[in-house]
Amino acid sequence: MSNRHDEDRNIGKLRQRAERQLTGIPAEHSPESHLQLLHELQVHQIELEMQNEALRESRANAEQALERYAELFDFAPIAYFTLGKDGSIHQTNFKGEGLLGIDRIQITGRHFADFVATEYQAGFKHFLENVFAHAESQHCQIMLTFDGKSCWVAIEATADCSRNSCLAAMADISEHKRNQQQLQLAATVYMALEEAIVVADIDNRIVAINPAFSTLTGYSSAEAMGQSTAMLKSDHHDQAFFRDMWNSLNITGQWQGEIWNSRKDGTEYLARLVISTVYDDAGQAIRRVAMFSDITEYRRSEEIIRQQANIDPLTGLPNRRLFLDRLQRAINKSHRGRQKLALLFLDLDHFKDINDTLGHDMGDRLLQETSQRLLSCIRETDTLARPGGDEFTLIMDELHDFNSINRVAQSILQAIMKPFQLQDERCYVSVSIGIALYPDDADTLEELLKKADQAMYAAKKLGRSRFCYFTPAMQEAAENRLRLTNDLRHALIDQQIWVAYQPIVDLATGEIRKAEALIRWQHPTRGLISPAEFIPIAEETGLITELGAWVFHQVAEQVSNWRIHHHTQFQISINKSPAQFYNNGEKLADWFEHLQRLGLPGGCIAVEITEGLLLDASSIVSDKLRAFKDAGMQTSLDDFGTGYSSLAYLKKYHIDFLKIDPIFVSNLSVGSIDMALCEAIIVMAHVLGMKVIAEGVETEEQRELLLQAGCDYGQGYLFSKPVTAEAFEKLF
Ligand code: C2E
Ligand code: CA
Ligand code: CA
Repeated sequence: MSNRHDEDRNIGKLRQRAERQLTGIPAEHSPESHLQLLHELQVHQIELEMQNEALRESRANAEQALERYAELFDFAPIAYFTLGKDGSIHQTNFKGEGLLGIDRIQITGRHFADFVATEYQAGFKHFLENVFAHAESQHCQIMLTFDGKSCWVAIEATADCSRNSCLAAMADISEHKRNQQQLQLAATVYMALEEAIVVADIDNRIVAINPAFSTLTGYSSAEAMGQSTAMLKSDHHDQAFFRDMWNSLNITGQWQGEIWNSRKDGTEYLARLVISTVYDDAGQAIRRVAMFSDITEYRRSEEIIRQQANIDPLTGLPNRRLFLDRLQRAINKSHRGRQKLALLFLDLDHFKDINDTLGHDMGDRLLQETSQRLLSCIRETDTLARPGGDEFTLIMDELHDFNSINRVAQSILQAIMKPFQLQDERCYVSVSIGIALYPDDADTLEELLKKADQAMYAAKKLGRSRFCYFTPAMQEAAENRLRLTNDLRHALIDQQIWVAYQPIVDLATGEIRKAEALIRWQHPTRGLISPAEFIPIAEETGLITELGAWVFHQVAEQVSNWRIHHHTQFQISINKSPAQFYNNGEKLADWFEHLQRLGLPGGCIAVEITEGLLLDASSIVSDKLRAFKDAGMQTSLDDFGTGYSSLAYLKKYHIDFLKIDPIFVSNLSVGSIDMALCEAIIVMAHVLGMKVIAEGVETEEQRELLLQAGCDYGQGYLFSKPVTAEAFEKLF
């Protein structure tokens, strides 16, 4: 319309131009009408020529425009299709070809519906109808399928004026669709997930939560939004815990682990937590997303399962599984520390009889009671287990001396021997114990188990209620010790114990004013047994108190006798081992009373102690030493030079005599180191107000040298061996 209007206007202008050209032509050579006509014709001709030219020009313009339009169409960045009313494809551009993946020649004549996915066919048909029914452009999104591929397209179509075809622009929106679907999926998961999700901004203010968050923490969306995530914290964890968490978050953007959190109502729960970070395009952290779930119950049941798998339900002791695990660990530890370890196999004797006669309930009770008794016999570091039936095992690691094995085994035997009261029944059982040592008997777990088992069977074979070592030498030593222990109990009653006296001689005058009482055991079959052998046993078993008291009474009687018959100032020293100091059973008051009854002053007795005792900071030792002092008794420091030899202690405890150990005396010679040492000890002792007794004096030379060094007293074979009281009297 507008073109035509422009053309009319152009022609109007041309006519004015033609008329202006013709106004110069003379009019007197022709009649008026001819002239007029000619003029008209000329004008017309010029007019036509001009019209022609204009037409040519506009045609060229139109052709150029068409060409440009065709190019625009062909190379348009979106796909164009011209479709017929029935959906047949009339025309498309390169993008259109690309979209459907076929050539333009093949496209023409085909129906667009052929490319539409079956489930969208109906929708597409309806869309086309709409396009032709309306003047405005129509829009739809459908899925195309061809060559086994599929893609999503958005279509915008307008019917042309003829209303026989339409122009449809299409864009591939597959990528967009996929993203959208993923977003939708994510949103669904976010809402439906049982895991709590909380999104926080970089200042830890909550910006989003899901329903599970509210269920778990008790905070509604309104309560949580804008709050700090710190409101979820419990006070289970220290600062270091959160420092580590933030370090990880700042460096890797991630953290995961278990954390104790607190609910709105204050209850705490263990959460499995995963935190990730969202970054912006510049790489700046903008959001933290935390997902967590409550695993408190799960952990609890896991723990129960773990316990059930490792603990014997009847006794609460480790079961076979845990025992083996502990044993392996103990072996590894001993290996690393180059220490020894003992494995004890305990088997109740005749347990089956009790089970059979009294029933399983009683049997169970007996096992429970047994495990209690066993626990009371062992050290805190030992591991007692019940691998099954009437078997128990004991792991003793960090062993420093073997006596502790004997001690424990012995106390177990005794503890089990005591009667068991099972409801109305009183019954007796015993236990057989097999002992194997790592690494002496075996250096692997399997071997060690086997050896301990064999030792246990040996114990059963030997008549039960005893313990057996796997190693014969250990076994022999243990048996010997055991026999001695038993024998020692009867030794006092059977009068096998007596006291020997060894003179302590005044080196300057040769007078005998003192003696040391030394205990002797005349064993009926083994002969004279050295106190060095049986005193440790007496100490372990506690018999030492009884023995010590007995010696004291003997000595008190003896010193009373010798004070009357020999010298009024006579003094006898008695040895007191540390075990006696720590034993509360010892009643010092009785001792002092006894002396009073005999009319004896405290000074008739000297008590010999060793250095180790003085190092004890507790008041037990100092109290007893003071009690001796108060009663007028004197004290000697025995074996000086072999222990700590601390002068500070000597001063603190007011020791009266210092006994130089034979080890120095035996090596005395002029100018020797030991000579110098003896001299130094003597000088020092005198400075501190103590007298010195040299022990183990065997030769005349030693006596001479000691005298020269200023030593006060001598004791040793040179003067006399320890002898009976009668023999001693001959020495006066
Ligand atoms: P001790 O107190 O150091 O006793 C001195 C030991 O040296 C005694 O050994 C004695 O017989 C020995 N002896 C004495 N003179 C000589 C010598 O010239 N040469 C050599 N080679 N040895 C000599 P014994 O009687 O066998 O006593 C050993 C240890 O037993 C004592 O050492 C003491 O610690 C302890 N003991 C002895 N009797 C008792 C007691 O009644 N109660 C306590 N608790 N311990 C005692
Ligand atoms: Ca002594
Ligand atoms: Ca000594």
